[in-house]
Amino acid sequence: MTDSIKTNKVWQQDKNHFIHPYTDFSTFHEEGSQVITKAKGNFVSDSQGNTFLDGIAGLWCVNIGHGREDMADAIYKQITQMQYFNPFGHSTNAPAAELAAEIAKRTPGDLNHVFFTSGGSVSNDSAFRIIHYYNNLRGKTTKKKIISRDSAYHGSTYFAANLTGIQATKSSFDSLGDELISYVSAADMYRRPIGAEQLTEDEYACFLANELENHILRLGADNVAAFILEPVMGAGGVLVAPKGYHKKCADICRKYDVLIVADEVVTAFGRLGQWFSSEAVFDFVPDVLITAKGINSGYIPLGATIISADIYRVISQPQCEGGVFSMGFTYSGHATACAAALKNFEILEQESLFDNVNKLGPYLQQTASEMLLTNSIVGDVRGTGFMLAIDLVSNKQTKERLYLAQQVFEKCLEKGLIIRPVGNVIVISPPLTLTRDNIDSLISKLKEAIDEVSSEMI
Ligand code: PLP
Repeated sequence: MTDSIKTNKVWQQDKNHFIHPYTDFSTFHEEGSQVITKAKGNFVSDSQGNTFLDGIAGLWCVNIGHGREDMADAIYKQITQMQYFNPFGHSTNAPAAELAAEIAKRTPGDLNHVFFTSGGSVSNDSAFRIIHYYNNLRGKTTKKKIISRDSAYHGSTYFAANLTGIQATKSSFDSLGDELISYVSAADMYRRPIGAEQLTEDEYACFLANELENHILRLGADNVAAFILEPVMGAGGVLVAPKGYHKKCADICRKYDVLIVADEVVTAFGRLGQWFSSEAVFDFVPDVLITAKGINSGYIPLGATIISADIYRVISQPQCEGGVFSMGFTYSGHATACAAALKNFEILEQESLFDNVNKLGPYLQQTASEMLLTNSIVGDVRGTGFMLAIDLVSNKQTKERLYLAQQVFEKCLEKGLIIRPVGNVIVISPPLTLTRDNIDSLISKLKEAIDEVSSEMI
């Protein structure tokens, strides 16, 4: 960190007053933060005038690219017409109503009712509040338990943090206890549980589905409300499940009247080349679908909990006289955030950005495998669409994790690339506007960074 950064006013204000999400305080107090000052297209710049290829789309969200004037115009238009009014009771606004309808047109099955929130965590919390309410109203008052998965990431509100299965995020925080939320194995093709190492892909999918079924039976199906899963686990290390896994799990859930919640906060709106990945990519229709991030490419906070016609039918029954559906947020259906989402949909379609992912995704995955797997500290390169992970190991045979992703991140910064380090895994989730040249540059910078880190170990 140079002296000119340290004397910078913003750097000081930030260090003194801004509590950052997911910060390592062992280095923050001394180093402070890098101040990002500009963002355009697939690149961002910092206060020192350095420019970086954004390999993580802000944080899995800026699908249409940064700093777009067409988006700014749409937001400006909405703000000057009617920026916000509360949507409580029978009040509404055109962008929220139109967006709900546009989402319903594109969702799988009969997922055609939308409850808007301000992000992914809140959308997950809202889903389970609605699910418990739904079960109460249909007389299934014991159906409360929720099954999540090891390594899952579902957010950072109290409830969503408990749905999260990444142990490292939980240290010294309180837990809701395993009475309410319990976990089955992640669908991890690279590090499989004992007993599953030698199975074929299909056998492994059955193995995991059996585990889910046995878990439901152990808890008692009458006590289990829902199973939540990310179609591709994101923050947990971009884990792509064995083929057939989702459908098998969904069938088991149906058998026991357990709702299936797809957390598509990352995987929707084109990251896997489709509006939603549940049905289009993984062949299952959830009862509840969670989105945020790519819904308006992160231009304004917005999330959505999308529920099936059946759940809506039950929860929209009139209650006792004067009784109302008592949940909602000041910013549910925020007119400007929804207008940004409508513009986002238009851009995604007009610029054929899903086609770009479908065309260049395989190139990204293949180039990364070819260029990176040769390094002795790269154990696995995996992903799909515009989600990619590089798993660092100290030994390719034992797959022992090598926690040097942060060092690779720092080397990448020097080379003008931003990636996301998560323990021993490097995550890439670029804007959907990424070009072939961007991919070549991204992978070659990443290769240089990994090579340097591994050679410094010797
Ligand atoms: N669910 C998934 C799958 C996520 O990846 C995230 C965030 O990365 C969340 C939920 C939480 O979303 P938010 O940070 O908008 O609350």
